[in-house]
Amino acid sequence: VFEQLSERIQGIVKGLRGRSRISEKDLEETLGRIRMALIEADVAVPVTNRFVASLRANLAGKEVLKSFTPHQVIVKAAYEELVALMGAPFKLSFSPRPPTVLVLFGLQGVGKTTLAAKLAARLRREGRSPLLVGADLARPAAVEQLRTLAEQAGVGFYSGQGSAVEVAREGVEAAGRLAKDVVIVDTQGRLAVDEELLAELGEIVSATDPTYCFLAVDAMMGQDALATAGRFKERVRLDALVLTKMDSDARGGAALSALAVTGVPVAYASVGERLQDLEPFYPDRLARRILGMGDVLGAIERIQATVDAQEAAAAAQKILEGRLTLEDYLAQLRQVKKLGSLASLLSMIPGLPKELAGIEIGDREIGRVEAIICSMTKEERERPEIIDFSRKKRIAAGAGVSHEEVSQLLNGFKEAQKMLASMGVMGQAVVKRAKKRVAKGRAKGGRYTPKGG
Ligand code: GDP
Ligand code: MG
Repeated sequence: VFEQLSERIQGIVKGLRGRSRISEKDLEETLGRIRMALIEADVAVPVTNRFVASLRANLAGKEVLKSFTPHQVIVKAAYEELVALMGAPFKLSFSPRPPTVLVLFGLQGVGKTTLAAKLAARLRREGRSPLLVGADLARPAAVEQLRTLAEQAGVGFYSGQGSAVEVAREGVEAAGRLAKDVVIVDTQGRLAVDEELLAELGEIVSATDPTYCFLAVDAMMGQDALATAGRFKERVRLDALVLTKMDSDARGGAALSALAVTGVPVAYASVGERLQDLEPFYPDRLARRILGMGDVLGAIERIQATVDAQEAAAAAQKILEGRLTLEDYLAQLRQVKKLGSLASLLSMIPGLPKELAGIEIGDREIGRVEAIICSMTKEERERPEIIDFSRKKRIAAGAGVSHEEVSQLLNGFKEAQKMLASMGVMGQAVVKRAKKRVAKGRAKGGRYTPKGG
């Protein structure tokens, strides 16, 4: 899937390559062509329209990034919007009270039974003990098909003589006895959704109280397949979709519109007939694939690095000017939290003493410092010297730490202030040198350097 869409979109953005400016009119034309490409890839029209509107809005906010080429900016914005369109990646949570129960629905032939076995094989590789439950009693061969697949996957299997609802319930009950922590229930499918099917699935859901209900959707059926999802959602229950037959030459629009049309995420993509042909669905990876991996990644990383470096430089400047209050300290810690480790932040400032660059502050540490500083009054943050023992105790109680930890923080802060003060002059020189380097880099064609940076 997606070959055609990917080619079209990459062709459109490639046309912008090497251009240093893009007029309003050209931008609108580009958006129009992207719109056509999406519609031809079978993305639902309302979804496409919304996508193009957000992309336009995203680009309108990109004034600051004038120093980037239009190609880079558009590719990055399109990437962000594609990822937003498909939502956050799905993560399977296991029930705190095992077994975790997965019930699979879907029309006939979409790949449910295969999917049940693929999920079981995958979970087994992750160290779980799955039990496959054959509750599709409508087709005589279905139970045997699942039994064979369970053997291939090396996982447990259960079926029974009663009705589909009884078999499903017994399967979940058997899990404890058989020491299985995940139960995957395969159900019957029909050529079209009908009342009888919905009623049976509803009863199975009531009887098994699933952790998740997955609907298998055949990617080859495109948008039509999504249209049926609404009925399962309304009448039974629906937590996520699995797109099957993603290895076919389907146009892929269903994958892109799934969340917008059904309101539930895509959890997995089934990409072949073998047991191992199941992948978690990662919106960001798919977006990169559509836009052309190497190119986009490079541009996005450079833009991100610039924004980060800009913020880091501003933070470093403030430290080195010796204007450090506890308030700043907190702001900077938050920045560090956002940027990653303090070490990587400091590594952006060439020439800093090694001891400083070696400092690593973990998230937990930052959280504690954050709690302590937040428990201080504004006055205490500005003039920490007024913090006596009784204030320390109050702050400690507020932050849920010991008063020793408050002392520790204050001592550390005092040390940092002292060190920074002594570095003052040298620090200024370092910042100047760093700025010069950035400027030089820009002269050498680093178009992505921030303005005024
Ligand atoms: P069910 O009726 O929904 O249970 O569908 P089955 O699991 O029996 O699958 C129907 C057919 O589709 C079988 O021939 C499978 O091998 C095939 N199939 C299932 N998933 C995929 C897939 O992701 N890619 C391809 N190419 N074939 C698949
Ligand atoms: Mg089946």
